[in-house]
Parts: sequence; C-alpha cells; structure tokens
Amino acid sequence: MPPLIKYDNGIEIEGLDFHLDAHRRAECSFVSHAHSDHARKHGRILATAETILMYRRRFPGVPTRALPMNRRIKLGDATIELFPSGHMLGAVQILIEIKRTRIVYTGDFKVYPNITCPPMESRRCDILIMESTYGDPMYSFPPQNEVYSRIVGFVKRAQSDGYIPVLAGYAMGKAQEAVCLLQQHGFKVAVDKAVNDINHLYRASGVKMESTDHYLHTSLDDKVVVVCPQTLRNEQFRALRRKRSLFLSGWSQGGRGKNNFSTDLGVPLSDHADFTQLIAYIESCSPRKIYTLHVEAKFAHILREMGYDAEYLHKGFRSDQSPVRPIDITQPNVAIGTNFELF
Ligand SMILES: [Zn+2]
Repeated sequence: MPPLIKYDNGIEIEGLDFHLDAHRRAECSFVSHAHSDHARKHGRILATAETILMYRRRFPGVPTRALPMNRRIKLGDATIELFPSGHMLGAVQILIEIKRTRIVYTGDFKVYPNITCPPMESRRCDILIMESTYGDPMYSFPPQNEVYSRIVGFVKRAQSDGYIPVLAGYAMGKAQEAVCLLQQHGFKVAVDKAVNDINHLYRASGVKMESTDHYLHTSLDDKVVVVCPQTLRNEQFRALRRKRSLFLSGWSQGGRGKNNFSTDLGVPLSDHADFTQLIAYIESCSPRKIYTLHVEAKFAHILREMGYDAEYLHKGFRSDQSPVRPIDITQPNVAIGTNFELF
C-alpha cells in the first residue's frame, strides 16, 4: 500500500519526517528552490547549498541542512535523492523511496536548458507530484534558441533606433538568465538593486557573470537595463528618456501578452514547462499515479481524458491509498514530445 499523501501545509507524506515546500511554518521542510512562494520560514529546512544561500537573505536565523544533488541519502525511513529541475540556480526535484514506493515531487521545473543552472533530469517513479503552471494546451513556447534570438534582436533593434533597451523579469532567476544571455552576446548590462543582490549570490555560487552597475549610477548610452517588473513603476525609472521595454515571461506568449506592467513588448522566456513538455515529462517518468499542483484542476482533468490516473491536489486533499493502477493510454489525443530534447 502506498503511503498516505496529504496536501494541507505543503505536501506531507506518511512516514516522512519533513514537509515538502510547506506554505506555513513547519518544524522541518524540504525547500525545492528559493522563490518566495516555496521558501517560507520554518523551524529548519533541507535544501541545496545554492538555495540555502538565497534563503538566508530572508531568514538568516533558520537552521539549514545542505543536501547534495544526484546522491542517494537515507533520512529516517526514507531514501531520497535530489536532482536538477532546471528552474533556477539551486532548484531541485526530490525522489523519495518510502514504503516500497518511489515518489517524485518536481517543485517548479523548466525543460528547456537554463544557462544559469544544470539541465533538468527525470526519474522513473510510481507516484509523480508535479507542478503544472502551464497545464493548458494553449501554452506552447517557441524553442529556447528562438526566444533567446528574439531577446537579442530586440536589444540590437532598440539600440540602433536610439533607445535604451529594458528587459523586465523576476529578480530571482529570470533576470539572471537575461543578464548571462546578454553578457554572452557582449552587451554591457545595468540592473536595479533587487536584481543586483541576486546576481551577487549567483556569482558567489560559481555562475559566470560579470559584475553589473546600478542603472541610476552609470551611463546607459551603451547598456541594456535589466530590472524586476516592480521597478518599471518606480518614478526614477519612469523618468528615464527614450527607453523601450520587453517583458520576459511565459505569460507573454503571443506578443504583448498578459502583464500588468505596460511594457512595449513581451517574449515567452519561461522558467516552467509548457503543456507539451509537461506531457513529455510525464512519459519520461512512467508514473502510475499523478498529482498535479498549481493553477486549477483543468490539467488533471485533461490528463484523465488522455488515460492517466491523475488528481488535482486541492487544499485538504488526502490520498485514498488504494493500490496505484497501471496507466492505460490507448489513444492519447495530444501530440507528445515534439520539442522535448533533454532526456
Ligand atoms: Zn519558482
């Protein structure tokens, strides 16, 4: 019989001594990565060394235990292994072997290579607990190289038109991917404080990135400005003349896209998987049971229509612990693996 799985304060698995990405204070939680919706204040945490470095900025007093990637470790009654999720620096998935059941919890994951961290991997498992931020067929991201080319093209065009190019992306993860991309193409980069603080931690963790000036304390004549979206509303930033802005987000799919920051353009640089990649990822794990997280129940519904045994992890969820059924996919109605290259 598989262990009981509960979704209340993050994920709780029967027999495991710690929560997975607990939302409220837990005595001990595994923290999959440093984004604030996953990294909350706890009694103590388990995470990678890179995640701990970023976590300590917000919660300096919390005891931490750094766990290595790609190594099996015995913790209580469980054997675990952390392996890369490609989402951001330090982000990992966790494989838990307990009660003769192999369970993978993905945290957030990105399938396309992320130039700031190791590429994601997958593990075969019985039960897959996965994020599904873009779990709708309407989300199909262009190949990563095309997205990178669009960003570089935007910057060159803005500069040749006499504008300051501005890229806006989340300060932790997305902005560093943009800074590394720009520096690899020979551009000089200026940033805001939020981005610079995280850049510093990335460099301290060994990511190859040149130091960056604050956009208010340097000439912007030949520079690209990378800021977090909140800075776009800052008065000093808005006073800058002749700037042209690009929003970096999966939600930007289809041009201007969904953002509340009134950028001139958007490009779908995402740190998550799109719909086809989510399906291909499931295939690579061959799970008998799937639990989906984030957004709504729609993705689990689509998976069931495709023949998977899938359930949405809603607040208060408790698994029924019946033996996991073999999956039966006779005629999947969505193309699988068209742009899935990593495994
Ligand atoms: Zn995240």
